[in-house]
Amino acid sequence: MTQHPPTRLIDPCNRHLNYLRVSITDRCNLACAYCLPREAVPRLSHETILRYEETLRIVRVGARLGITKVRVTGGEPLVRRGVYDFLAQLRRMPDLRDISLTTNGVLLKENLDRIRAAGITRLNVSLDTLRPERYRSITGMDHFDRVWEGILAAQAAGFHPIKLNAVAIEGVNDDELVDLARLSLAYPFHVRFIEFMPIGRSQFAGKPTLLVPEIMQRLAALGPLIPVPRSELDGPARRYRLEGARGEIGFISAISRHFCDRCNRLRLTASGQLRPCLLSDFQVDLKGPIRRGCSDEDLAELFFQTIRHKPSDHNLSVGEPAHVCCQMRSIGG
Ligand code: SAM
Repeated sequence: MTQHPPTRLIDPCNRHLNYLRVSITDRCNLACAYCLPREAVPRLSHETILRYEETLRIVRVGARLGITKVRVTGGEPLVRRGVYDFLAQLRRMPDLRDISLTTNGVLLKENLDRIRAAGITRLNVSLDTLRPERYRSITGMDHFDRVWEGILAAQAAGFHPIKLNAVAIEGVNDDELVDLARLSLAYPFHVRFIEFMPIGRSQFAGKPTLLVPEIMQRLAALGPLIPVPRSELDGPARRYRLEGARGEIGFISAISRHFCDRCNRLRLTASGQLRPCLLSDFQVDLKGPIRRGCSDEDLAELFFQTIRHKPSDHNLSVGEPAHVCCQMRSIGG
């Protein structure tokens, strides 16, 4: 019997991979302590970073294989020249149903029109604290007001949903969890608490992770968390709402409660490596073959090769963190 090549990205655990997170740069205008070590990390050379047309080609091949959802991330995506045109080109790909952007928000306010003109309406903004002084100590920059103004301006401009991502870290911002969650009462934001993951080198390496069950307990002061039913395009966050809230609260428990069994993600790094799992260092090089003139069929085969290596489960367990060598900012968080 003739064996037909596969046409869809279904891995050996029967997970349908339809979500590609694309890091377009490893450059960032912040230096968050949980993302970077104190010493300088060498940056990717210009040549090493995929050109936009190369990234678009990879996404196009992925879309033929069933990718419908793309998130553009980094590094900080808004620092890369040409990003708005790139977003608009992604938006024009007919098979993509959901395109979103993750940003630290520093350049948000002055670029909202360009983001909207590119057709993007869904934003994730990282915000780990509501205190300007603490913001500076976490990120190394005095940009809290700029970011907050950008978030409010995005809301006024009709972006929805706006997800505010906070990495919850004991002794860093754990005394603000209630204040951050309370934002969902006053604003239609989706406040999401993320467990700190031991990825690459960072100033918080070795710190115990504040786990979601503990975070939820600390929010008890705000009243019951009412579960929000899952919808088709939902990611791994478990979603809740406070009584009478305009927004939501979500929890991403990458460590305490693996969501590997329903993980639908692949990641394309800024240097053109396709990774089947954020928490493993396995990757397949797409840039080399592209620059040597490979065909779209060859690229599709590299997608299939990658997904054959998607681990059934990550190997990080509570209390004994393993280490992922590649820096978060080049994989794309
Ligand atoms: N510059 C953009 C931003 O700040 O949102 C996109 C890139 S950043 C690497 C993406 C997300 O990864 C951010 O929400 C950040 O908080 C999160 N992140 C970075 N390092 C992390 C870590 N070690 N554990 C958990 N989340 C992390």
